[in-house]
Amino acid sequence: MLKEIGVGVTLGIVISLIWLDFNIYPALFLVGIFFLLFKVLDIRGGVKNFIPLQNDNKLRTGISFEDIGGQNSAKTELLEALDFVKVPEKIQLMGIRPIKGVLLAGPPGTGKTLLAKAAASYTDSAFLSAAGSEFIEMYAGVGAQRIRQLFQEARNTAKKKNKSSAIVFIDEIEILGSKRGSHSSHLEYDQTLNQLLVEMDGLSLDDEIRILLIGATNRSDLLDSAILRPGRFDRIVQVELPDVEGRFQILKIHTRNKPLSSDVKLKKIAAETFGFSGAHLESLANEAAITALREKCNYLEPNHFLEAIDKVMMGEKLDKRPAPEECRRIAIHEIGHALVSEYIKPNSVSTITIIPRGKAMGYIRQKPEKDSYIYTKEFLEGQIAVLLGGAVSEEELLGSRSTGAANDFQQAIELGKRIISSGMSSLGVVSVKDLPGDMLHEQLKTILNNQENKVRNIINECKSIIEKTAAYLLKKERISGDYLRELIKARKKDAFKKNIV
Ligand code: ATP
Repeated sequence: MLKEIGVGVTLGIVISLIWLDFNIYPALFLVGIFFLLFKVLDIRGGVKNFIPLQNDNKLRTGISFEDIGGQNSAKTELLEALDFVKVPEKIQLMGIRPIKGVLLAGPPGTGKTLLAKAAASYTDSAFLSAAGSEFIEMYAGVGAQRIRQLFQEARNTAKKKNKSSAIVFIDEIEILGSKRGSHSSHLEYDQTLNQLLVEMDGLSLDDEIRILLIGATNRSDLLDSAILRPGRFDRIVQVELPDVEGRFQILKIHTRNKPLSSDVKLKKIAAETFGFSGAHLESLANEAAITALREKCNYLEPNHFLEAIDKVMMGEKLDKRPAPEECRRIAIHEIGHALVSEYIKPNSVSTITIIPRGKAMGYIRQKPEKDSYIYTKEFLEGQIAVLLGGAVSEEELLGSRSTGAANDFQQAIELGKRIISSGMSSLGVVSVKDLPGDMLHEQLKTILNNQENKVRNIINECKSIIEKTAAYLLKKERISGDYLRELIKARKKDAFKKNIV
């Protein structure tokens, strides 16, 4: 506001002077020179008191550990580390070396920033946050200076707020903490990292303001070993993708301000969203509410959530609509996948759709029975069969394949390589990297051909089911797996009766 008034008054004076015929050009020239000089120094980080952080004033009413779903082991580990800030006397009494830094490592969107904010709230500390990229400038020395400013600012903020501790959060810490010498302009990067190490070494329990540094990274493998050694980032807390219970807790948190219809079962949604991060789940709840609003519903219903899962997984619906014969091909392709999936693992298909989204013209969504972290050979072979189902279905029902299967084949080949590299192929334990090309090719061909033969038999036996489901899917565009399951059940009953007669 003051700035605007200042500019207005200055302009007024200049216009009046011109009006009164004063020669103001020499003065304007001098002002221009000063302005340029100021800007150059500013860019070099010399004049402006750069503050690469935002003070979160709303912390007391902000994030607490109750607002973070799942992540129980990360929370426990972090809470232990926070005793250094919260009850330093106890730590001193036990002769424990204080923890200076905690590193939160894990995939994007899993709640690392939330954990750092909750930590500040829990310990009643001042909270300052910065991103690693804010310390990187092309001028040598600026990054190191900003690190000094960051720690100084943390002390000042805590003093101003009458707090005895401060939490400094650096997101994307791998940008400034990556292995020394690994950057082309390594001098500047190394200086910044060295300064961070110096600041960390200087932290002590006796400080007037106790500072805890929390770093977050998606790439802990890139970090310099000096930063990870005991006495610096003592704790490395893994913040992983949530398991089914974690997903349920996160969904509960993000739907607590939304009107849910009584038939929405969050546990069921949690089971269908294996691989989703907290950020995905937040987006899922939000998208479901947007869909409900668009459909003028007062409550969020199960189909709004199903639609939102598809949107978060595959992207926004596309406007393009393929020609009718292409639509039929896509339907037959997708039902091929779904049919094989149901044969290999009954009850595994959640949705089949031919609505184009993102890069896909159609897709099926399988629902995992439970979260799995390791896979057997049978499971991987089953997934290969499902992937091949689309192309084989097109071939058997329409007489030819299409380019729509290229991505399926790529994924099938990757799974085949996984079987080989895990020592589950007939080659025994081998290194895929060192395997001669033709041997690898032969082995992959055997794995894929075996599955293709199996898939062809299933498809040929069920051509009428595919035709029927395709007609229904073309009408509805998106169907649940139940329709297909009913047809498979009826066919099995028929076959059983025929055998008896
Ligand atoms: P990045 O590595 O990309 O910086 P991050 O791990 O720091 O991500 P956050 O910024 O903490 O992730 O989370 C992003 C959003 O996702 C949060 O604002 C929140 O809405 C949601 N979220 C993530 N994890 C959780 C969780 N465990 N509980 C509740 N919400 C979560």
